[in-house]
Amino acid sequence: MSSRNILIVEDELKLVEVLKANFEHKGDRVFVAHDGLSALDIARSEDIDLVLLDWMLPLMSGDVVLQNLRNFSRVPVIMLTARSGESDIVDGLKLGSDDYLTKPFSLKELNARIEAVLRRSPESNQPIYQKLKLDDRLTIDFDSHRITCNQEIVHLTPNEFKLLTILIKHPQRVFTREELVTSAFGDDFDGFDRTVDTHIKNLRMKLEVDPKQPKIIITVFGVGYRYGGNV
Ligand code: CA
Repeated sequence: MSSRNILIVEDELKLVEVLKANFEHKGDRVFVAHDGLSALDIARSEDIDLVLLDWMLPLMSGDVVLQNLRNFSRVPVIMLTARSGESDIVDGLKLGSDDYLTKPFSLKELNARIEAVLRRSPESNQPIYQKLKLDDRLTIDFDSHRITCNQEIVHLTPNEFKLLTILIKHPQRVFTREELVTSAFGDDFDGFDRTVDTHIKNLRMKLEVDPKQPKIIITVFGVGYRYGGNV
C-alpha cells in the first residue's frame, strides 16, 4: 500500500516515538495528538486514513473522542488500551472502533491489525459520515438507511436512497445520468438513463421544500446532477 496518513492519539511520549518511527519507516505520514481535543481538530482538517486511539487520555478519554469522531467521520480506528476486560472491548467496538489492541503489543501485531482494518475499509480516505444534516430540516442516517424531515421519517425506495447517497458522498462532483446508474445500481442495471430522471423527480418531491426550485439535488444543464446540500 502507498503512503498513508496515520493519526496517533497517545499521551505516552515514548510509545508515540516508537509508533511514529514504525510508520515513518514504512513511508507513512504521521500526525500526533497528545490529547483528544487536538485529535479531533486534526481529524477534521487532515485527510486521515487510520487513527490509533489511546483510551486513557488527558482532557477527554478515548471513548469520548471516538464518539465525537463518529459524528463526522468513519475513518478506521484502532483503540489502544491498558484495559483488557471483555466488557471494555465490547464497549469500544459498539462505539465504532474497528479493532482493539491491549498494551503491551508488538509492532508486528499492530501492523497486521492495521493491514486487516484497512483492507476492510476500501473507502477509508473518503469522509463517510454516519449521520449528516442535509439542511435545517433533513437528516440522513447512512447506517439505518433512514431520512428524517423535522424528525418525521421520509420513506425512500432503495434505489432512491442509493442515488441520493452517491450524490451526497461526492459533493463536488457533477454526475451524468449514466454515471449515476453505474455508481448506484451497478453495470447490470437494465433500466434506461432516463430512469434516473424519474427517481430524481420523486426524490425532489419527497425532500425539497419547493421541488421546482431544488436545493438538495441540483440539475446541471447539459450534464446531469449534483448534490447541493450541506457537507
Ligand atoms: Ca494514555
